[in-house]
This record gives sequence, C-alpha cells and structure tokens, in this order.
Amino acid sequence: MVSRRVLLAAAGLLSAGSLASRLARAAGPAAAPVRAFPLSIAVAEGDEGKPVRDEAWVDAQIAEAARLFEPAGVALRKAASRALSPRFSRIETRADRDALASALEARRINVMIVASLRDVDDPRRFRMGVHWRHRATPERRFVIVAAHAPPTVLAHELGHFFGLGHSGTDDNVMSYSRTGAPVSFDAAQIEAIRSAARRHAASKAFDPA
Ligand SMILES: [Zn+2]
Repeated sequence: MVSRRVLLAAAGLLSAGSLASRLARAAGPAAAPVRAFPLSIAVAEGDEGKPVRDEAWVDAQIAEAARLFEPAGVALRKAASRALSPRFSRIETRADRDALASALEARRINVMIVASLRDVDDPRRFRMGVHWRHRATPERRFVIVAAHAPPTVLAHELGHFFGLGHSGTDDNVMSYSRTGAPVSFDAAQIEAIRSAARRHAASKAFDPA
C-alpha cells in the first residue's frame, strides 16, 4: 500500500506543475522564448578608404531595431562587422544591388551600409534603405541601408525581411510618414514578426546568435 507521505508528495508535485503552466498561460504570447538572430554588418569603404559610417552609427541603428523588435520576442545581435569594397559604395542600379550578393555571409541576416542608394524606379531619387532579393536567386536576400539614413531605417528594412509590408499610419515603423512622435510596430505587425521568427527558427536557416 502506498504511504500517505508519498501520495502527498505526488500531489505537491502535480499542483506545482499545474501552477507553472497556469502562470505560463497567464503571461501570454509575450512570454514566448526570445529568438536571437545574427546580423552580419558590412560597411562600404568610401573613396578615401574610410568606412562610410563608423561603428557607433551602426550600433545606434541596431539598438533602435533591437528595441522595436523586442516586443515580438526577437533579439538582434551583431555577429560580424566587416569592410565592403569601395566598388560597392554607390549603389546605382539593380545590377549593383545584385552584385552585393557576392559579399553575403551564409546563415546570417546581411546588412550592407553604403554611401548612397539610388531609387531604381525613379533614378532622380535616392533611397534610405531597401530589402533586396537577388533577381536570379531570390532566396539570397539582404538589407541595404544608406549612410544618410535616420536611426529607424534598419528596423524598417528588417520589418520587410520578417515579411511586413508598408503601413499608411503615421509613425508606424513601416510607414513613410513621420510626425516626430515615437515610432512603433502595431500589435498585428508584432504577431506577424513573431510568426516569421518562429518559422525562421524552425527552418534553422540562421546560426544561433
Ligand atoms: Zn519599405
């Protein structure tokens, strides 16, 4: 016959277990595990052989992106920072964008910082950033950020990387319209990023960061 002491101990374990699962449910999706993604940053050298932006500028872009992605359970970590040949400094054409694919690091989210990025649809304009897929091999995709970009541009392009489209709402990260108020993702975007992050993690396409 099982002793009373053993039965009580088993009951204690059971209630501790169900309490833990109740707490996990109460905390909701925000308590989902944080998934960390490795960023490989490549900074083009300008004409004088100097990087078009310094490490502090890059870190400010990453910090802003990390802050905005944190509610989606996504952490962004700088896994590598390297120099990019001056021939990639001025990105003028679709072919120039495609050529950057030769400098990609495998199993990381590649971010290319360049001196200038011309709009390929309207060549009179310059872009602050773009999420680009190599045209012949679209699975090779990466982010390009121009040196004159304000701090939220990396977050915007990573939003595209995680599957988001544009928003028409002022001060949304994915909008072109800014009033000067703090920018953020909305709840639906946060959920979309969370799902994309889950899929990326399951695919094991990226190294753990
Ligand atoms: Zn965009």
